[in-house]
Amino acid sequence: MDFPSQVPAGAGAVLAIDLDAIAGNWRVLRDHAQRSGRAVECAGVVKADGYGLGAVPVATALAGAGCRSFFVADLEEATTLRAALPDARVLVLHGPAAGTEREMAALGLTPVLNSLDDIARWRATAVALDRPLAAYIHIDTGMNRLGLDDRDARHLAEEPDLLAGLALSGWMSHLASADVAGDGFAAEQDARFRAHLARLPRAPASLAASSGIFREPALLHDLVRPGAALYGVNPTPEASNPMAPALRLLGRILQVRDVPAGATVGYGATHRTTAPTRLATIAVGYADGYFRALGSSGHVTIAGVRAPVVGRISMDLLSVDATRVPPEALVPGAFAELIGPDRPLDDVAADAGTIGYEILTGLGRRFCRVYQGAWPVAAQPRRDTGSLAL
Ligand SMILES: *Cc1c(COP(=O)(O)O)cnc(C)c1O
Repeated sequence: MDFPSQVPAGAGAVLAIDLDAIAGNWRVLRDHAQRSGRAVECAGVVKADGYGLGAVPVATALAGAGCRSFFVADLEEATTLRAALPDARVLVLHGPAAGTEREMAALGLTPVLNSLDDIARWRATAVALDRPLAAYIHIDTGMNRLGLDDRDARHLAEEPDLLAGLALSGWMSHLASADVAGDGFAAEQDARFRAHLARLPRAPASLAASSGIFREPALLHDLVRPGAALYGVNPTPEASNPMAPALRLLGRILQVRDVPAGATVGYGATHRTTAPTRLATIAVGYADGYFRALGSSGHVTIAGVRAPVVGRISMDLLSVDATRVPPEALVPGAFAELIGPDRPLDDVAADAGTIGYEILTGLGRRFCRVYQGAWPVAAQPRRDTGSLAL
Protein backbone atom coordinates (compact mmCIF):
# COMPACT_ATOMS: atom_id res chain seq x y z
CA MET A 1 0.00 0.00 0.00
CA ASP A 2 1.40 3.36 -1.01
CA PHE A 3 1.69 6.09 1.51
CA PRO A 4 -1.29 8.41 1.13
CA SER A 5 -0.12 11.23 -1.10
CA GLN A 6 -2.12 14.06 0.39
CA VAL A 7 -2.96 14.22 4.06
CA PRO A 8 -4.14 17.45 5.70
CA ALA A 9 -1.33 19.04 7.69
CA GLY A 10 -3.54 19.17 10.77
CA ALA A 11 -4.28 15.44 10.81
CA GLY A 12 -2.54 13.82 13.78
CA ALA A 13 -3.08 10.32 12.51
CA VAL A 14 -4.02 8.59 9.29
CA LEU A 15 -5.92 5.36 8.91
CA ALA A 16 -5.31 4.20 5.35
CA ILE A 17 -7.68 1.43 4.29
CA ASP A 18 -6.78 -0.56 1.20
CA LEU A 19 -10.02 -1.65 -0.46
CA ASP A 20 -8.14 -3.40 -3.26
CA ALA A 21 -6.39 -5.55 -0.63
CA ILE A 22 -9.75 -6.37 0.99
CA ALA A 23 -11.24 -7.31 -2.40
CA GLY A 24 -8.09 -9.35 -3.13
CA ASN A 25 -8.44 -11.13 0.21
CA TRP A 26 -12.05 -11.99 -0.65
CA ARG A 27 -10.90 -13.56 -3.94
CA VAL A 28 -8.26 -15.59 -2.09
CA LEU A 29 -10.90 -16.82 0.35
CA ARG A 30 -13.39 -17.62 -2.43
CA ASP A 31 -10.78 -19.52 -4.42
CA HIS A 32 -9.68 -21.42 -1.33
CA ALA A 33 -13.30 -22.29 -0.49
CA GLN A 34 -13.69 -23.63 -4.03
CA ARG A 35 -10.40 -25.58 -4.01
CA SER A 36 -12.14 -28.93 -4.26
CA GLY A 37 -13.98 -27.81 -7.38
CA ARG A 38 -17.36 -27.18 -5.77
CA ALA A 39 -19.17 -23.86 -6.27
CA VAL A 40 -19.07 -22.80 -2.61
CA GLU A 41 -20.47 -19.27 -2.23
CA CYS A 42 -18.20 -16.81 -0.41
CA ALA A 43 -20.15 -14.17 1.52
CA GLY A 44 -18.61 -11.16 3.28
CA VAL A 45 -19.12 -10.36 6.96
CA VAL A 46 -19.27 -6.59 7.43
CA LYS A 47 -20.81 -6.33 10.91
CA ALA A 48 -19.47 -3.77 13.41
CA ASP A 49 -19.08 -1.26 10.57
CA GLY A 50 -16.94 -3.61 8.52
CA TYR A 51 -14.81 -4.55 11.57
CA GLY A 52 -14.17 -0.84 12.09
CA LEU A 53 -13.01 -0.13 8.54
CA GLY A 54 -16.32 1.13 7.10
CA ALA A 55 -19.10 -1.29 6.12
CA VAL A 56 -20.25 0.70 3.09
CA PRO A 57 -16.88 1.19 1.38
CA VAL A 58 -15.82 -2.36 2.22
CA ALA A 59 -19.04 -3.97 1.00
CA THR A 60 -19.04 -1.80 -2.13
CA ALA A 61 -15.52 -3.00 -2.92
CA LEU A 62 -16.48 -6.62 -2.21
CA ALA A 63 -19.56 -6.32 -4.43
CA GLY A 64 -17.26 -5.06 -7.18
CA ALA A 65 -15.19 -8.22 -6.76
CA GLY A 66 -18.28 -10.41 -7.12
CA CYS A 67 -19.50 -10.86 -3.54
CA ARG A 68 -23.32 -11.09 -3.43
CA SER A 69 -24.17 -11.88 0.21
CA PHE A 70 -23.28 -9.75 3.23
CA PHE A 71 -23.74 -10.49 6.92
CA VAL A 72 -24.38 -7.70 9.44
CA ALA A 73 -25.39 -7.88 13.10
CA ASP A 74 -28.62 -5.92 13.33
CA LEU A 75 -31.28 -3.89 11.58
CA GLU A 76 -29.44 -0.59 11.89
CA GLU A 77 -26.35 -1.99 10.18
CA ALA A 78 -28.56 -3.67 7.58
CA THR A 79 -30.40 -0.43 6.82
CA THR A 80 -27.13 1.39 6.15
CA LEU A 81 -25.90 -1.39 3.91
CA ARG A 82 -29.18 -1.77 2.04
CA ALA A 83 -29.11 1.93 1.09
CA ALA A 84 -25.66 1.47 -0.46
CA LEU A 85 -26.29 -1.93 -2.07
CA PRO A 86 -29.92 -2.18 -3.19
CA ASP A 87 -29.44 -5.50 -4.98
CA ALA A 88 -27.23 -7.40 -2.54
CA ARG A 89 -28.43 -10.12 -0.21
CA VAL A 90 -28.15 -8.68 3.30
CA LEU A 91 -28.32 -11.23 6.13
CA VAL A 92 -28.95 -10.11 9.71
CA LEU A 93 -27.21 -12.31 12.29
CA HIS A 94 -29.19 -11.18 15.34
CA GLY A 95 -32.47 -12.05 13.64
CA PRO A 96 -35.69 -10.02 13.57
CA ALA A 97 -36.12 -8.01 16.78
CA ALA A 98 -39.75 -8.18 17.89
CA GLY A 99 -41.65 -5.33 16.27
CA THR A 100 -39.19 -4.83 13.39
CA GLU A 101 -40.34 -7.71 11.19
CA ARG A 102 -42.26 -5.57 8.69
CA GLU A 103 -39.44 -3.09 8.37
CA MET A 104 -37.03 -5.94 7.72
CA ALA A 105 -39.35 -7.42 5.12
CA ALA A 106 -39.82 -4.02 3.43
CA LEU A 107 -36.05 -3.65 3.16
CA GLY A 108 -35.76 -7.10 1.61
CA LEU A 109 -33.44 -8.33 4.37
CA THR A 110 -32.75 -11.98 5.14
CA PRO A 111 -32.78 -12.48 8.90
CA VAL A 112 -30.93 -15.33 10.55
CA LEU A 113 -33.64 -16.93 12.70
CA ASN A 114 -32.14 -18.00 16.01
CA SER A 115 -35.09 -19.53 17.87
CA LEU A 116 -38.51 -21.10 17.34
CA ASP A 117 -39.96 -17.75 18.39
CA ASP A 118 -37.98 -15.95 15.66
CA ILE A 119 -39.29 -18.52 13.17
CA ALA A 120 -42.89 -18.06 14.32
CA ARG A 121 -42.76 -14.27 14.13
CA TRP A 122 -41.06 -14.21 10.73
CA ARG A 123 -43.55 -16.74 9.41
CA ALA A 124 -46.49 -14.73 10.77
CA THR A 125 -45.09 -11.72 8.90
CA ALA A 126 -44.88 -13.75 5.68
CA VAL A 127 -48.48 -14.90 6.13
CA ALA A 128 -49.66 -11.35 6.85
CA LEU A 129 -47.84 -10.00 3.80
CA ASP A 130 -48.99 -12.97 1.72
CA ARG A 131 -45.56 -13.60 0.24
CA PRO A 132 -42.70 -15.97 1.08
CA LEU A 133 -39.93 -14.31 3.12
CA ALA A 134 -36.30 -15.39 2.88
CA ALA A 135 -34.61 -16.65 6.03
CA TYR A 136 -31.50 -18.46 7.21
CA ILE A 137 -31.94 -20.63 10.28
CA HIS A 138 -29.17 -20.95 12.85
CA ILE A 139 -28.68 -24.22 14.73
CA ASP A 140 -26.35 -24.13 17.70
CA THR A 141 -23.75 -26.90 17.75
CA GLY A 142 -21.49 -25.86 20.60
CA MET A 143 -21.27 -22.09 21.04
CA ASN A 144 -24.44 -21.94 23.16
CA ARG A 145 -24.76 -18.33 22.12
CA LEU A 146 -27.40 -18.00 19.41
CA GLY A 147 -29.40 -20.50 17.42
CA LEU A 148 -31.85 -23.35 17.98
CA ASP A 149 -30.68 -25.82 20.58
CA ASP A 150 -30.67 -29.54 19.93
CA ARG A 151 -34.21 -30.07 21.19
CA ASP A 152 -35.73 -27.20 19.20
CA ALA A 153 -33.92 -28.29 16.02
CA ARG A 154 -35.34 -31.81 16.45
CA HIS A 155 -38.79 -30.35 17.06
CA LEU A 156 -38.50 -28.37 13.82
CA ALA A 157 -37.55 -31.55 11.95
CA GLU A 158 -40.68 -33.26 13.26
CA GLU A 159 -42.94 -30.31 12.41
CA PRO A 160 -41.71 -28.89 9.09
CA ASP A 161 -45.02 -27.01 8.80
CA LEU A 162 -43.48 -24.50 11.19
CA LEU A 163 -41.58 -23.32 8.09
CA ALA A 164 -44.59 -23.03 5.79
CA GLY A 165 -44.64 -19.62 4.14
CA LEU A 166 -40.91 -19.07 4.48
CA ALA A 167 -38.46 -19.14 1.57
CA LEU A 168 -35.72 -21.09 3.31
CA SER A 169 -32.35 -19.68 2.21
CA GLY A 170 -30.18 -21.95 4.29
CA TRP A 171 -29.12 -23.55 7.55
CA MET A 172 -26.13 -22.26 9.46
CA SER A 173 -24.06 -22.99 12.53
CA HIS A 174 -20.89 -21.40 13.91
CA LEU A 175 -17.57 -22.98 14.88
CA ALA A 176 -16.07 -22.32 18.29
CA SER A 177 -12.38 -22.99 17.73
CA ALA A 178 -11.54 -23.28 14.03
CA ASP A 179 -8.58 -20.95 14.63
CA VAL A 180 -6.83 -23.69 16.61
CA ALA A 181 -5.10 -26.09 14.19
CA GLY A 182 -5.78 -29.75 14.87
CA ASP A 183 -8.59 -28.98 17.29
CA GLY A 184 -11.11 -31.83 17.08
CA PHE A 185 -14.07 -29.71 18.14
CA ALA A 186 -14.82 -28.41 14.62
CA ALA A 187 -15.35 -31.97 13.37
CA GLU A 188 -17.59 -32.66 16.36
CA GLN A 189 -19.68 -29.58 15.59
CA ASP A 190 -19.81 -30.51 11.91
CA ALA A 191 -21.11 -33.99 12.83
CA ARG A 192 -23.86 -32.46 14.98
CA PHE A 193 -24.73 -30.01 12.21
CA ARG A 194 -24.91 -32.78 9.60
CA ALA A 195 -27.11 -34.91 11.82
CA HIS A 196 -29.60 -32.05 11.99
CA LEU A 197 -29.35 -31.33 8.26
CA ALA A 198 -30.20 -34.97 7.47
CA ARG A 199 -33.52 -34.59 9.33
CA LEU A 200 -34.47 -31.11 8.09
CA PRO A 201 -35.80 -29.85 4.75
CA ARG A 202 -33.03 -29.43 2.22
CA ALA A 203 -31.42 -26.00 1.82
CA PRO A 204 -27.87 -24.67 1.43
CA ALA A 205 -25.75 -25.02 4.57
CA SER A 206 -23.09 -22.73 6.05
CA LEU A 207 -20.63 -23.47 8.84
CA ALA A 208 -17.19 -21.96 8.20
CA ALA A 209 -16.02 -18.40 8.95
CA SER A 210 -12.47 -17.17 8.21
CA SER A 211 -10.51 -19.94 9.91
CA GLY A 212 -12.89 -22.76 8.98
CA ILE A 213 -12.17 -22.09 5.29
CA PHE A 214 -8.59 -23.24 5.87
CA ARG A 215 -9.45 -26.44 7.79
CA GLU A 216 -11.05 -29.69 6.61
CA PRO A 217 -12.86 -29.27 3.25
CA ALA A 218 -15.90 -30.95 4.87
CA LEU A 219 -16.50 -27.75 6.84
CA LEU A 220 -17.05 -25.68 3.69
CA HIS A 221 -20.62 -26.83 2.92
CA ASP A 222 -22.37 -24.44 0.49
CA LEU A 223 -21.56 -20.97 1.78
CA VAL A 224 -18.66 -19.58 3.84
CA ARG A 225 -18.83 -16.45 5.99
CA PRO A 226 -15.39 -14.84 6.36
CA GLY A 227 -15.00 -11.57 8.25
CA ALA A 228 -11.65 -11.07 9.96
CA ALA A 229 -9.55 -12.59 7.16
CA LEU A 230 -10.95 -10.04 4.70
CA TYR A 231 -9.38 -7.34 6.85
CA GLY A 232 -5.99 -9.04 7.07
CA VAL A 233 -6.28 -10.98 10.35
CA ASN A 234 -4.41 -14.28 10.05
CA PRO A 235 -7.03 -17.08 9.88
CA THR A 236 -4.31 -19.70 10.42
CA PRO A 237 -2.42 -18.43 13.48
CA GLU A 238 -0.17 -21.51 13.49
CA ALA A 239 1.22 -20.61 10.03
CA SER A 240 2.23 -17.53 8.06
CA ASN A 241 -0.61 -15.20 7.12
CA PRO A 242 -2.19 -15.98 3.72
CA MET A 243 -4.03 -12.62 3.77
CA ALA A 244 -2.74 -9.23 2.64
CA PRO A 245 -2.62 -6.36 5.15
CA ALA A 246 -5.64 -4.12 4.59
CA LEU A 247 -4.86 -1.14 6.77
CA ARG A 248 -2.09 1.13 7.81
CA LEU A 249 -2.30 3.27 10.94
CA LEU A 250 0.14 6.17 10.93
CA GLY A 251 0.66 8.59 13.81
CA ARG A 252 2.25 12.00 13.45
CA ILE A 253 5.42 12.73 15.43
CA LEU A 254 4.66 15.90 17.42
CA GLN A 255 7.94 16.38 19.32
CA VAL A 256 11.38 14.86 19.59
CA ARG A 257 13.31 15.33 22.84
CA ASP A 258 16.65 14.15 24.18
CA VAL A 259 16.61 13.20 27.84
CA PRO A 260 19.40 12.01 30.13
CA ALA A 261 19.57 8.71 32.01
CA GLY A 262 17.12 8.70 34.90
CA ALA A 263 14.39 10.70 33.15
CA THR A 264 10.79 9.62 33.72
CA VAL A 265 8.20 9.30 30.96
CA GLY A 266 4.44 9.68 31.10
CA TYR A 267 1.70 9.27 33.70
CA GLY A 268 2.70 7.53 36.87
CA ALA A 269 6.35 8.07 35.91
CA THR A 270 6.38 4.33 35.31
CA HIS A 271 9.26 4.43 32.84
CA ARG A 272 12.72 5.69 33.83
CA THR A 273 15.46 5.85 31.21
CA THR A 274 18.67 3.97 31.96
CA ALA A 275 20.76 5.84 29.37
CA PRO A 276 20.57 9.08 27.37
CA THR A 277 17.49 8.58 25.21
CA ARG A 278 15.81 10.25 22.26
CA LEU A 279 12.04 10.24 22.77
CA ALA A 280 9.41 10.87 20.14
CA THR A 281 5.87 11.87 21.09
CA ILE A 282 3.20 10.56 18.71
CA ALA A 283 -0.33 11.94 18.25
CA VAL A 284 -2.22 8.70 18.95
CA GLY A 285 -3.56 7.48 22.29
CA TYR A 286 -6.03 5.11 23.83
CA ALA A 287 -8.92 7.33 22.71
CA ASP A 288 -7.93 6.27 19.19
CA GLY A 289 -8.08 2.59 20.05
CA TYR A 290 -4.36 2.21 20.68
CA PHE A 291 -4.88 0.09 23.75
CA ARG A 292 -3.50 1.24 27.08
CA ALA A 293 -2.26 -2.35 27.48
CA LEU A 294 0.41 -1.47 24.88
CA GLY A 295 2.13 0.88 27.33
CA SER A 296 5.75 -0.27 27.75
CA SER A 297 4.97 -3.42 25.72
CA GLY A 298 4.24 -2.39 22.15
CA HIS A 299 6.43 -0.80 19.54
CA VAL A 300 6.01 1.33 16.44
CA THR A 301 8.29 1.71 13.45
CA ILE A 302 9.75 4.98 12.18
CA ALA A 303 11.34 4.78 8.75
CA GLY A 304 11.24 1.02 9.22
CA VAL A 305 13.20 1.13 12.50
CA ARG A 306 11.65 -0.32 15.61
CA ALA A 307 10.86 2.20 18.37
CA PRO A 308 9.50 0.68 21.61
CA VAL A 309 6.60 2.33 23.43
CA VAL A 310 7.83 3.69 26.76
CA GLY A 311 5.63 4.57 29.72
CA ARG A 312 1.86 4.60 29.77
CA ILE A 313 -0.31 5.38 26.76
CA SER A 314 -2.12 8.71 27.28
CA MET A 315 -5.55 9.51 25.89
CA ASP A 316 -4.20 11.36 22.85
CA LEU A 317 -0.46 10.68 22.92
CA LEU A 318 2.14 8.02 23.31
CA SER A 319 5.92 8.14 23.72
CA VAL A 320 8.46 5.92 22.03
CA ASP A 321 12.18 5.38 22.47
CA ALA A 322 13.43 6.50 19.05
CA THR A 323 17.15 6.52 19.92
CA ARG A 324 17.96 4.07 17.10
CA VAL A 325 15.98 5.92 14.42
CA PRO A 326 18.20 7.87 11.98
CA PRO A 327 17.94 11.58 12.97
CA GLU A 328 16.89 12.68 9.47
CA ALA A 329 13.76 10.48 9.76
CA LEU A 330 12.91 11.82 13.19
CA VAL A 331 11.31 15.18 12.52
CA PRO A 332 8.07 16.62 13.86
CA GLY A 333 5.38 16.10 11.23
CA ALA A 334 6.80 12.78 10.02
CA PHE A 335 4.77 9.62 10.57
CA ALA A 336 5.35 6.54 12.68
CA GLU A 337 3.67 3.29 11.64
CA LEU A 338 1.57 1.83 14.44
CA ILE A 339 -0.13 -0.88 12.37
CA GLY A 340 0.76 -1.89 8.83
CA PRO A 341 3.13 -3.93 6.71
CA ASP A 342 6.04 -3.20 9.12
CA ARG A 343 3.88 -3.73 12.17
CA PRO A 344 1.33 -6.53 11.54
CA LEU A 345 -2.08 -6.18 13.14
CA ASP A 346 -1.83 -9.61 14.76
CA ASP A 347 1.52 -8.70 16.38
CA VAL A 348 0.07 -5.49 17.82
CA ALA A 349 -2.86 -7.51 19.14
CA ALA A 350 -0.54 -10.06 20.74
CA ASP A 351 1.43 -7.26 22.44
CA ALA A 352 -1.86 -5.88 23.79
CA GLY A 353 -2.93 -9.32 25.05
CA THR A 354 -5.87 -9.51 22.66
CA ILE A 355 -6.83 -10.53 19.12
CA GLY A 356 -6.76 -8.58 15.85
CA TYR A 357 -10.57 -8.48 15.84
CA GLU A 358 -10.61 -6.32 18.97
CA ILE A 359 -7.92 -3.96 17.71
CA LEU A 360 -9.82 -3.47 14.43
CA THR A 361 -13.22 -2.87 15.98
CA GLY A 362 -11.69 -0.60 18.62
CA LEU A 363 -10.09 1.78 16.10
CA GLY A 364 -11.11 5.34 16.88
CA ARG A 365 -13.08 7.88 14.91
CA ARG A 366 -10.53 10.71 15.06
CA PHE A 367 -8.23 9.52 12.31
CA CYS A 368 -8.10 11.02 8.88
CA ARG A 369 -9.46 8.03 6.99
CA VAL A 370 -8.04 7.48 3.56
CA TYR A 371 -9.57 4.87 1.31
CA GLN A 372 -7.35 3.49 -1.40
CA GLY A 373 -8.84 1.36 -4.12
CA ALA A 374 -11.91 1.19 -6.25
CA TRP A 375 -14.41 2.93 -4.01
CA PRO A 376 -15.80 6.27 -5.21
CA VAL A 377 -14.22 8.52 -2.61
CA ALA A 378 -16.37 11.50 -3.56
CA ALA A 379 -19.35 9.68 -2.06
CA GLN A 380 -17.60 9.08 1.27
CA PRO A 381 -19.64 10.26 4.24
CA ARG A 382 -17.54 12.97 5.85
CA ARG A 383 -16.06 12.03 9.18
CA ASP A 384 -15.41 14.56 11.89
CA THR A 385 -12.04 15.46 10.40
CA GLY A 386 -13.95 16.39 7.25
CA SER A 387 -10.88 15.60 5.23
CA LEU A 388 -10.49 13.41 2.21
CA ALA A 389 -6.96 12.70 1.14
CA LEU A 390 -7.39 10.88 -2.15
C1 LIG B 1 -18.61 -12.69 13.15
C2 LIG B 1 -19.17 -13.93 12.55
C3 LIG B 1 -18.59 -14.50 11.41
C4 LIG B 1 -17.27 -14.01 10.85
O1 LIG B 1 -16.26 -14.56 11.64
P1 LIG B 1 -14.68 -14.30 11.33
O2 LIG B 1 -13.98 -15.13 12.32
O3 LIG B 1 -14.47 -12.83 11.53
O4 LIG B 1 -14.46 -14.71 9.93
C5 LIG B 1 -19.23 -15.56 10.80
N1 LIG B 1 -20.37 -16.07 11.32
C6 LIG B 1 -20.94 -15.58 12.44
C7 LIG B 1 -22.16 -16.22 12.98
C8 LIG B 1 -20.34 -14.51 13.10
O5 LIG B 1 -20.89 -14.04 14.23
